[in-house]
Amino acid sequence: MSASAHDAFDLLIIGAGAAGLMAAVTAGRAGQRVLLLDGARTLGAKILVAGGGRCNVTHAVVSERDYAGGTPQQIKKVLQRFPVRETIAFFAALGVELKQESTGKLFPTTDRARTVLDALLRACNDAGVRIHHPTRIERVHFNSAQSRFIAESAMESFSAPRIVLATGGKALPKSGSDGVGYSFAQGFGHTLTQHIVPALAPLLLPPAHWLLALSGLALDVELSLALPTGAPFKFPAQFKAWTVEGALLATHFGLSGPAALDISRHWTHAHTIEHQVLLRINWLPQHREETLDALLVSRKGVSILTVLREHLPERFARAILQQLALDPLITPQQLPRERRQALVRALVSTLVEVTGDRGFTYAEATAGGVPLDEIDLSSMESRMQCGLFLVGEILDVDGRIGGFNFQWAWASGLVAGTSASRG
Ligand SMILES: Cc1cc2nc3c(=O)[nH]c(=O)nc-3n(C[C@H](O)[C@H](O)[C@H](O)COP(=O)(O)OP(=O)(O)OC[C@H]3O[C@@H](n4cnc5c(N)ncnc54)[C@H](O)[C@@H]3O)c2cc1C
Repeated sequence: MSASAHDAFDLLIIGAGAAGLMAAVTAGRAGQRVLLLDGARTLGAKILVAGGGRCNVTHAVVSERDYAGGTPQQIKKVLQRFPVRETIAFFAALGVELKQESTGKLFPTTDRARTVLDALLRACNDAGVRIHHPTRIERVHFNSAQSRFIAESAMESFSAPRIVLATGGKALPKSGSDGVGYSFAQGFGHTLTQHIVPALAPLLLPPAHWLLALSGLALDVELSLALPTGAPFKFPAQFKAWTVEGALLATHFGLSGPAALDISRHWTHAHTIEHQVLLRINWLPQHREETLDALLVSRKGVSILTVLREHLPERFARAILQQLALDPLITPQQLPRERRQALVRALVSTLVEVTGDRGFTYAEATAGGVPLDEIDLSSMESRMQCGLFLVGEILDVDGRIGGFNFQWAWASGLVAGTSASRG
């Protein structure tokens, strides 16, 4: 449906991504005259590419511990307003059945992201929401004489007494989410976190690093951050060491796969504090140094390659032995103690220099944004400007891989859509 600048609206929503669509459906159902504006020619780009085109809508178990950014208490306050069972019921009512995979991730049974986007657009239509696109908003302000927010594109201007900023963060800028929404928020007196960096981004290794030669290899690992001394890196404010478990994929540029993506925002954040922060990889997460050493010692008369092959792909086993200049055919007993310990250390604690991440173009989310302290989390209303609501990735919240970012978008969108309808 189209909208003209002369139509009367109760609520403007800028951004028709996951959070904006949810806010629009909720407010439209509550009887609000909603205008949803988006700069993109094709709506819902991120929903369509999500989960490899299958859209990982949510996760079976979502808790505040799956997120970083704001404090766990702040994030919980919003998440608990729209628990996963309600997400499942919401989509079921739209005709989108979700199925749970063994990882806990939930996808539409059609395995097509298009099903999710079409259902949300249908729900907007049914709720009387007007969607106007491509309409790139360039300026937003509050006209106090009229008590209305004014959103201006190059050609038109729209107004309403309340407005939702659902412009996303900076990840995948070609989708239309390029961070311009931050300046809209700042225009109303909001601040931004000191760092706004890619989250869920692949990591880069130095050229000629030995892991690059293993491109295509995937392994279940445990990742953490370490100082050059080998000591765990702990964030000063939280005094917390982050550990991530999951699949790691070696690529021609560095490291990808869920584990690398999940640790990336912590590495990037740590790197801004401590220049020389390293990635620690435990290639055998079920082991610590003592148990692995005991395992090696217990294997008599077989080569170290044979022992490693029982737990790791041969390609990897040969590469790590080569790195340590160890003959694959000698037995653990033939290895001098120090060299055996060096092998054990390399297997449970390889320290890797990371040179950066692949940036917002390849990131799935944004770490940082508008601080949650500046939002009334019971309504998602700005504490700086009455009638202004902020939802989704524009806020300082980012989830790990697995459907958590969408769950944040659904929950925050629903809270804003509900409270913006109360007038
Ligand atoms: C490749 C990829 C895969 C992903 N897969 C998953 C997944 O499977 N599960 C999961 O939970 N999360 C996934 N995510 C993350 C998830 O997509 C985002 O966290 C979520 O979409 C954020 O929703 P949002 O509505 O806040 O912002 P966005 O989805 O970024 O939407 C913002 C909207 O605002 C519009 N906009 C911005 N500025 C303006 C302006 N000035 N004027 C008009 N319109 C404007 C943009 O065009 C865009 O449509 C993935 C992300 C990427 C990049």
